[in-house]
Amino acid sequence: AADLELADVTKAYGDTLAVDHISLKIPAGTYCCLLGPSGCGKSSTLRMVAGHEFISDGDIMIGNTIVNDLPPARRGTAMMFQNYALFPHLNVRENVAFALKMAGVAKAERLKKADAMLALVDMGAYAERLPAQLSGGQQQRIALARALVTNPTVLLLDEPLSALDPFLRIRMRAELKRYQREFGISFVHVTHSQEEAMALADMVVVMNDGRIEQVGTPREVFNSP
Ligand code: ADP
Ligand code: ADP
Repeated sequence: AADLELADVTKAYGDTLAVDHISLKIPAGTYCCLLGPSGCGKSSTLRMVAGHEFISDGDIMIGNTIVNDLPPARRGTAMMFQNYALFPHLNVRENVAFALKMAGVAKAERLKKADAMLALVDMGAYAERLPAQLSGGQQQRIALARALVTNPTVLLLDEPLSALDPFLRIRMRAELKRYQREFGISFVHVTHSQEEAMALADMVVVMNDGRIEQVGTPREVFNSP
């Protein structure tokens, strides 16, 4: 477990200032929801933490390490996307194991860990299937297994539940909270849904126009005028 800290972080795309000098500390083990209208800089912030995007200015720290220049696989982060982003030609087990290949784990060990994680997310029976043979909700669980198998300090989620039907969405929320408790990991979860943030977050960060407008518990943020 480790704190995640953004210090004066900025992202510019040409003339567009997508993220404008934001500072934020997310204590270890916190479920943080990043909320705000489309285009306010949520995804850019997440991608900078993940290492999928260079930062233009400032520092990102995980624990005592400045991760600005570390590749994604060496930051202790894992990312889960809205569209699952599974490899269509790899079966479920291989998809989960692939995350460990990036981290340099040997093949036999990768497959063993993948199977253990699939059992944990209740998808052990589907190890040999291809993603296209699974429902959206099942693909979602595989994407979650692939993120968790690397044993991340911080799990980064970009609108992960928006493609699910309401029933599955409620179920996945409960599971995400369970993994928070069981593994002690932090979450940074991008959403535009206040209801989702209310259900999941210990800490809500409201962004607008590249800046942080409000930080607090759901109660503090949503009850304020
Ligand atoms: P959100 O996730 O809140 O919708 P984004 O971080 O995706 O916001 O986008 C913030 C701003 O940066 C928007 O104005 C968007 O158009 C712009 N932007 C995002 N990604 C890129 C990119 N790769 N190139 C240029 N502009 C981008
Ligand atoms: P979201 O609002 O969910 O962040 P977007 O539709 O804004 O998603 O962005 C989807 C993808 O397009 C992202 O990879 C983002 O970097 C890229 N993108 C967004 N805005 C721009 C832009 N103005 N120019 C180039 N790429 C962009």
